Amino acid sequence: PARGTPVLEVQGLTRRFGGLVANRDLALTLHAGEILAVIGPNGAGKSTLFNQLSGCDTPTQGTIRFLGRSVAGWGPRRIAEAGLCRTFQHVKLLPTMSVLDNVAIGAHQRGRSGLLRSALRLDRADEARLLAEAQRQLERVGLGAFAQAEAGSLSLGQQRLVEIARALCADPSVLLLDEPAAGLRHLEKQALAALLRRLRDEGTAVLLVEHDMDFVMNLVDRVMVMVFGEKIAEGLPAEVQRHPDVLAAYLGT
Ligand code: ADP
Ligand code: MG
Repeated sequence: PARGTPVLEVQGLTRRFGGLVANRDLALTLHAGEILAVIGPNGAGKSTLFNQLSGCDTPTQGTIRFLGRSVAGWGPRRIAEAGLCRTFQHVKLLPTMSVLDNVAIGAHQRGRSGLLRSALRLDRADEARLLAEAQRQLERVGLGAFAQAEAGSLSLGQQRLVEIARALCADPSVLLLDEPAAGLRHLEKQALAALLRRLRDEGTAVLLVEHDMDFVMNLVDRVMVMVFGEKIAEGLPAEVQRHPDVLAAYLGT
């Protein structure tokens, strides 16, 4: 999609767990070539929002449109194959498998290539293509040299980058990142920010949940603030930072 095109449009999104309202009447629009951060205290409903957007959970109410189409009833695999890919707050790699294989498996499962259908019948050419793509994406996140290492031997921050490489194999038009900077060292955060800027400039839309305010405020185009399941503010980073409701929610003033 061309820069500025709405790629993800959410209306009236509500998720109840019994009596608890984890998301209440959320609206948001994400555009191609934009980075939007969702911030808010623990329990605000950020991961719940991501789970619904990625098809891992079903809204109680509301609509989600991706590239102009309703994704109601779509499972996570179909959504990922359509180009809406996510990483998880808690890293999900196979620790004894190589970094490269972890990425390739992701590409295989989530890619748009339809390779899934031949899951157990990959021929050599397909396998080679898959591994080459995985290597390319590992290099993109700065981990090309770690391809043959066991995934479990990497730092938590590096494992997060491996997850991003895995998501990138599907050539996503929307990338959802749940706390991508958590556990990263300063230099790793800078590298991640540079990568996300590059993706944005290529037209990818990035939606991220993040607690590191320096990371968020220096990177993103727009910020949405959630508290107790509701959106309480949205705007440019500088605007949101001085919004009275945001200050109250964070500082108790
Ligand atoms: P955040 O990611 O902002 O920390 P979550 O989306 O994880 O918040 O959680 C929002 C609220 O919903 C919390 O009160 C949490 O306990 C609750 N919640 C999340 N998932 C479930 C679930 N599967 N069942 C019951 N309650 C849940
Ligand atoms: Mg969360």
